[in-house]
Amino acid sequence: KASQEAEKRGWHLYLVGGAVRDLLLAEEASGTLLIKDIDLVVDGFHKTAEVGAGVELAKALQQLYPTARLEIHGAFQTAALLWHKDPELDSLWVDIATARTEFYPYPAANPEVEASSIRQDLYRRDFTINAMALQLTPPRAGALLDFFGGLLDLQAKQIRVLHANSFIEDPTRIYRGVRFAMRLGFHLEPQTEEYIRYAINSGVYDRTTRENSKTPALQTRLKTELKHILEAPYWKPALQLLGDLGALQCIHPTLKIDEELLGQLRLLERCLRRFDSQQTLIHWQMRLEALIAHLAAEYRGHVAKNLQLPEDSINRLYCIAQHQQKVNKNISSLEAEGGVDEVRPSQIEQLLRQYDVPMLILIAVQSSRGVRRKIWQYLTVWRNIQPILNGNDLRKLGYKPGPQYRQMLNDLLAATLDGVVCNRDEAEEFLAK
Ligand code: ATP
Repeated sequence: KASQEAEKRGWHLYLVGGAVRDLLLAEEASGTLLIKDIDLVVDGFHKTAEVGAGVELAKALQQLYPTARLEIHGAFQTAALLWHKDPELDSLWVDIATARTEFYPYPAANPEVEASSIRQDLYRRDFTINAMALQLTPPRAGALLDFFGGLLDLQAKQIRVLHANSFIEDPTRIYRGVRFAMRLGFHLEPQTEEYIRYAINSGVYDRTTRENSKTPALQTRLKTELKHILEAPYWKPALQLLGDLGALQCIHPTLKIDEELLGQLRLLERCLRRFDSQQTLIHWQMRLEALIAHLAAEYRGHVAKNLQLPEDSINRLYCIAQHQQKVNKNISSLEAEGGVDEVRPSQIEQLLRQYDVPMLILIAVQSSRGVRRKIWQYLTVWRNIQPILNGNDLRKLGYKPGPQYRQMLNDLLAATLDGVVCNRDEAEEFLAK
């Protein structure tokens, strides 16, 4: 239908990007493929299509498929049709754009856009394997447009960039390159790797960080790429490769992968596996927070803010150093007072109850084994213990309601945690004393 609508208007329509890549890969592997994300590009026959062609086509299709939701993104003249949980189509996202060229007014800036031909549109893309198009309109419907050797690169299993300046224009492409390499089991083509190193050495990352206020979209894209990588099963080798390439400088110029960080990430994984099998925490974000927390204290909050992490995450990173110091100092002094084994669970509970779980996990992975054990015990056991009696019970026992209830329940909780009180009788006796 889309190609008929385009043809009616004298335009060409192409399937482009990831869907073409995945179709060719599936064909090679004789596998089946479920595509949920389709990118279409409209182009004029002999001339450049009107700037609004993509939007017009999307509107026409929405008339034909009223169950689809239409979204129009004005700035880049693109439209999206979304079939959300349609019983037949499940969810399907179709982006329709007019063929366009992008200009970067300065390195790492947000691109400016102009309508153009399909070749130019493909040339602005990140890698050869993502820069192929399948023509959908006659007379060459079904023809593959491969101007830059994408098919050969797919066969050679390599990620190759289209031009030398690509990573300087958009450093997030480094993260995309690593992501595709890991996901598809490909390697970075040697010249491409050199371009990456060149882009890093040219200081583009420092500029990215400094010019952040002018390029908020770049930081958003960086966060999106980090999310994709950190929630994928291959996040560890991907991070390692980014570290080897020096590309973590994109996050902050001083960020490096070292043994200490790898150890902290291992602890974090163990912790998320054990304490959060229900995935109530956002695991990719916890990994990112652990990365950022590896930076010197003065940079952490600022980096989290640049990446536009959620407010609670930014606050955590701003003040983790201070809280970690406090927790470590207090646990040390409790141990010094009564001996390492004499610290009572209630003392730890009182110290840690003010912190949210992500903060405690971040503090734990950065602390000594002794402190970590206490935090683990708090998270797994002590945090879940309730006082044996509640306010209602106190009332029934004849205690006059009032602010003292809070203190009584607190004392009862401490006694329960410390094993002084194990059942209701003992609880009542404890209160009576
Ligand atoms: P995925 O399967 O992960 O969705 P994809 O290739 O469809 O992979 P998208 O992020 O959806 O990836 O992008 C769609 C297409 O847009 C890509 O195939 C690529 O051609 C182009 N593209 C996306 N991001 C960039 C970028 N930063 N620079 C250049 N081209 C890009």
